[in-house]
Amino acid sequence: MAQLVLSNVYKRYDDGPKGLFRKRKVHDYAVNNLSFTCEDGEFIGILGPSGCGKSTTLRMIAGLEEITEGDMYIGDIRINELPPKDRNIGLAFEDYALYPPLSVYENLAFNMRAKKIPEDKIQEAVSYVAPLLKVDDLLDMKPPALSGGQKQRVNIARAIVRRPGLLLLDEPLSHLDGKMRQTLRQEIKRMHHEIKCTTIIVTHDQMEAMSLADRIVIMKDGVLQQMGTPLEVYDDPANEFVAGFIGEPPMNLLPATIVGAGDGFEFAFEGSPLRVAVPEKYNPVVENNMQVTLGVRPVDVLIQPGTEGSGAVPVAVYENLGDERRISVRIGDTLLNTTTAEDVSYHHGQIVRLSFHAERTHLFDPKTGNRIRSNVEWR
Ligand code: ATP
Repeated sequence: MAQLVLSNVYKRYDDGPKGLFRKRKVHDYAVNNLSFTCEDGEFIGILGPSGCGKSTTLRMIAGLEEITEGDMYIGDIRINELPPKDRNIGLAFEDYALYPPLSVYENLAFNMRAKKIPEDKIQEAVSYVAPLLKVDDLLDMKPPALSGGQKQRVNIARAIVRRPGLLLLDEPLSHLDGKMRQTLRQEIKRMHHEIKCTTIIVTHDQMEAMSLADRIVIMKDGVLQQMGTPLEVYDDPANEFVAGFIGEPPMNLLPATIVGAGDGFEFAFEGSPLRVAVPEKYNPVVENNMQVTLGVRPVDVLIQPGTEGSGAVPVAVYENLGDERRISVRIGDTLLNTTTAEDVSYHHGQIVRLSFHAERTHLFDPKTGNRIRSNVEWR
């Protein structure tokens, strides 16, 4: 087991951006001043959209990519120049890279054989790991005969069979279909509880990060946006990007103007007569005519039958998904999404009354995307 520390790490590829993500210029950083600590035994998720620098970060930790600037430590050893084989790391990438002519057993044993580990120790290691990943019935089979899910289980089993200090998983579930992803996700979680190996998973799937990780590192354009527990990044997003990235369906982000009303303030929306009271907690940080982005999660938007008052808005879309209903209403040019578990039914164009769970609203500065914090935060 090991603690991993990244301290002001930068990565610049001198040959310029690859693939589809060419917006970045040659001398921009793929990873830009990244610092975080992954505690001993902790499960960290690195999450962000395509091209944000997740895999580059993982590859630098693994020693497969040089660090341009900054330092990395495993325990108290600085690993910047340490060869990958000396880092005591287990790696499982998106593509399985199993040896097709070898049985699953031999695939698991391969690296230990190369290190001349005695056969009884190899057997012991394989028999411990195989049931954890449910590959014990597959040991005699060869990779071409395995399903995608089985191959990925073997891939992960191979990464942990030598009990590495640090386990690195790069999008290990992205090839798999929805149900298989969920099953394997639960198995990875169970496996981590059992072996308690410091683990980092790279994923663009927020559900995966939220369900697996103790803490999540959220990146955009090579820059750390926020690091926190799943609940922290959901309830207390640092900025508009995190707010819109975490949560399904995503948080509604509405351009609004603050207008004075009596002793307090209201949100006004362009092209809509709708007015919603600004929660009192924001009074010290807002002023008349201030432009904000109002963030409100679909579960925190309340829709009720009725046509009265300034909260009256037309239904744009109604979807019944069985376990929940999704209703979108139009506010000016923007669609505001709501979800409810209640058995309600609306139709397109119907006028309904809208209100927010005011304490759970978030405000952002539309220019910087940064959170405008109230004096009293809801938690
Ligand atoms: P994805 O989810 O699509 O794999 P990612 O978040 O893992 O994306 P990286 O693969 O780390 O992103 O890429 C980060 C940036 O670095 C991108 O702009 C990418 O084009 C660039 N990049 C990655 N590898 C190289 C390389 N070998 N040479 C040049 N640029 C690269």
